[in-house]
Amino acid sequence: AKSILAVTMNPSVDISYPLERLQLNSVNRVTEVTKTAGGKGLNVARVLHQLNSPVVASGVLGGTIGQFIQKKLDETNIKHNFMPIDQESRNCIAILHDDMQQTELLETGPLLTDKDEANYLKHFKNSLDGISVVTISGSLPKGLSMELYAKMIEIASIKEIPVLLDSSGEPLKVSLSRKHKPFLIKPNQEEIAQLIAKPINDFVELQEVLATNPLFEGVEWVVISLGADGALVKHNTEFFRLTIPKIDVVNPVGSGDSTVAGLASAIATGADNVEVMKTGMTTGMLNTMEKKTGFINNDLFNEYYKKVTLKKLN
Ligand code: ATP
Repeated sequence: AKSILAVTMNPSVDISYPLERLQLNSVNRVTEVTKTAGGKGLNVARVLHQLNSPVVASGVLGGTIGQFIQKKLDETNIKHNFMPIDQESRNCIAILHDDMQQTELLETGPLLTDKDEANYLKHFKNSLDGISVVTISGSLPKGLSMELYAKMIEIASIKEIPVLLDSSGEPLKVSLSRKHKPFLIKPNQEEIAQLIAKPINDFVELQEVLATNPLFEGVEWVVISLGADGALVKHNTEFFRLTIPKIDVVNPVGSGDSTVAGLASAIATGADNVEVMKTGMTTGMLNTMEKKTGFINNDLFNEYYKKVTLKKLN
C-alpha cells in the first residue's frame, strides 16, 4: 500500500519537567523528565501509525537532537526520511508546575539558508514515490521563504498527490494564493480570523467568509475545528456542521494534529466524504482522552465514531 508523508519542517525534542513549585531565581531539581519526539507533523505521524495507516515522517533534522528524534521514531517503528542539516534541531521545554500551570520555553530552532531550501525541495520531490497523501504541519524554521509550502504543494499537485496543510499566517496565506492549492486546510477559527485580518464573531460570519473569500476557492476541503464544538466543514461549495459528544478531556494538546491524521488516513484509503469528516472528528476526540500528546487508543475508534453527528447546512 502507498504511504502518507507527514512533514515537519521544525521538529523538536519536547521535554516535560513536572514540578510541585517552580522557584524563580533558584535551583529546581527535576526527577521525572520525559523527552519525546515533538512537532506537529510528528504527532500526525504517530497517530497515523496508531491507525495502522502506512506513514513516513519527513522534514529536516540535525545534530544530536535530530538523532534523538530518529531514535524515538525507530523505537516505535515509524518510518522516516528527513533531510539532514548541519545545525542542531531544537528543544522545547514545558514546565508543569503549581497546580496545572504550564510555562513553556520554545527554542526558535535552526536558521536555514536558501541552499537548504533548494536542497529540501529536491529532497521532497524525491520523497514522493509511493506516497498517496502529504501532510504539512506547523511553522517554518527561520531563514526559509514564506513560499516553501506553496512550492511543495505545487510539486505534489503536479504528481496528483493531495496535500493537507495545517499551518497559519503567511505560509498559509501564500499557499492559498497560488494556482495549485492545498487539497485540505484545517485552520481553527482564530487562524481564519488572522488570515483575513478581521475578527469573526459567530458561525454565520464564519460560513460567509468561507463561502465568499477567494482564498478558499478551489480548496476541496476547509475543515475549521472548533474544539469541544466539533467542526464546520466546507467541501467544495457544500457546508457541514459536525458535532461530537461531551467527553472527559485528559489532555487536548495535539487534537488538531490528530484530526489531520484522521482526515489523511481516510482520504488515503478513498473513503467517502462523510467518512473523511467523521474520522477526523473521532481521532481528534480520542487524542483528548489520552495523557500523551499526539496519541490515540485505536480500540475506542468505532465506539466514538458512531457518536459523531453530521448535518448538511444550506
Ligand atoms: P491543537 O492546536 O491543540 O492541536 P486545534 O485548535 O488545532 O488544536 P481543536 O479544534 O482544538 O484543534 O481540536 C481538533 C478536534 O479535536 C476537534 O474538532 C474535536 O474533534 C477534538 N477536540 C478538541 N478539543 C475537544 C474537547 N474539549 N472535547 C472533545 N473533543 C475535542
